[in-house]
Order: sequence, then structure tokens, then C-alpha cells
Amino acid sequence: METKSFPVEGGVSVPLLVSASIPAPFRHGFSTRAGGVSAAPYESLNLGGKWGDSPENVAENRRRLLVISGARAMYAACQVHGARVVRVTAGDDPDVVKREEADGLCSDGAGLGLAVKVADCAPVLIADPRTGACAALHAGWRGTVAGVATAGVETLARGFGCRPEDLRVALGPCIGPCCFDVGLQVVAAFEAAWPGARAAGVVVETAGFQPRIDLRRCLRLQFQEAGVLPENIEVSSDCTACDPAGRFYSFRHSGRLTGQLVGFIVASPG
Ligand SMILES: [Zn+2]
Repeated sequence: METKSFPVEGGVSVPLLVSASIPAPFRHGFSTRAGGVSAAPYESLNLGGKWGDSPENVAENRRRLLVISGARAMYAACQVHGARVVRVTAGDDPDVVKREEADGLCSDGAGLGLAVKVADCAPVLIADPRTGACAALHAGWRGTVAGVATAGVETLARGFGCRPEDLRVALGPCIGPCCFDVGLQVVAAFEAAWPGARAAGVVVETAGFQPRIDLRRCLRLQFQEAGVLPENIEVSSDCTACDPAGRFYSFRHSGRLTGQLVGFIVASPG
């Protein structure tokens, strides 16, 4: 993935990570901490509204993202670590969609922006150049075990006639296997959902007491099992919890004194 700078206005610009996996005319990006107005400890492009940051600052940060996205409206659901994917159509009210308990949004509507909020969980964007449909998924460990990746592919197939082999997938920065220590109940959940988790390197033994989970490896394998071609999946190698430059918000690193990043995608922006 590469970092590109997007101008807002008045000399202000916002850097986003973009993936070569998602072709034009889709517009997409993964935000970082840079380019916003929030003060410490949320500095500066916090896009999450529930963790104590000033509502005015979050609103300005979201406005900047909307400008850059070229979307007519940006939609985000109430994320609950599940596998439900909701379809968004023109005329849907963002204030209604935000109360939907879902961890994925999909659409083929021109100018409709789909966003997921993360701070260690994986933001996943899917685009289908053939049908023009796209999706944004929020995948923490619970959602991954629940099958949100597979649900995303199946929902696109059912709703828009998408074929897995046409799909392009971009998985943005999330907590890496370097940092994702988990308890034994999490390991058990992965092994129950997926008997091959240990052999596939999804559960990683360490020299320390706690095993770790390689969330992005798990998601990549799930997409491949769902029929997405390996060469059509780009996975960021950035870890939100230990990035040397501190570019990301991380719940693991900062607890509740953190902000939220966004991954977004827009079909045919204006
Ligand atoms: Zn790390």
C-alpha cells in the first residue's frame, strides 16, 4: 500500500493509505492519525465519536474525509463484531444506517460512501470492477471467527451477481501477529471455527505464555477459500499497535484514550 496526500482546501491535505488492488473508478482509502483537528490524546484525524473527543472536532474530521472521498454521503453502521452485511441504496438516511447493527455495508450506488471504523480491528474493502458493487467490512477477532469475510463475498454474490474471481480486496492496517496476544478462549474460538487454524499459522505460538493471532493471515485465507484470487488481495503489513512512526490509533496500545481510523470505499464518486 502507498500513502497519498489528498487536498481538502486552504492548503490542508490528508494522507491516506491506498491499495493498488482497488481500481478506479472506485475511490477508497485507509485513514491514519494525520490530517485532522483533534487535540491530544486523540490527535489528530479521529473519526470515532464515542470515546471522549470533542464532537466538533470529530465532525470536522469527518467532513474532511467526506470531501476527499467524493461521496454524496458516507455511511457507517453500528458495529457489533458480527457478520451481518447491510445493503445501502440511494436515499438511505445515514442517521438510520448508523443504528443498524452490522459489521459490513455493501452498495452499487454511485456516490454512496461505505465506511468502517477501527482501532486494531481490520478494515476490509472489496470492489467488483465488473458489476460496480463494493463493500466495507469491520473484522476484529470475533467478526473474523463469525465469518464476516465470507459473508461479505456471499452478500455481494447474492445482491449484485458478483463472482468471487472478479473481486478485489484490500485489507488495511490492523493489529499484527507481532502484538496480538490473546487468551486461550480466543484460540479455542478460532480452532472451533476453523480446525486448521494452527497449521495455517493463524494461531501463532510464542516463547511467552500467551499465543498470538495473525488476524490478517486468517482473513486472507478466508477470502481465498471463498474464491477470491490470491493476486487480487492486498494486505497491509502495518501494525496499528506497534507502528514505529505511531501513525495509527490502537485500542491495544492506548486503551480508551484512543481515536478511530476509517477504511472507506465509494462506487463512482462525483
Ligand atoms: Zn505490532
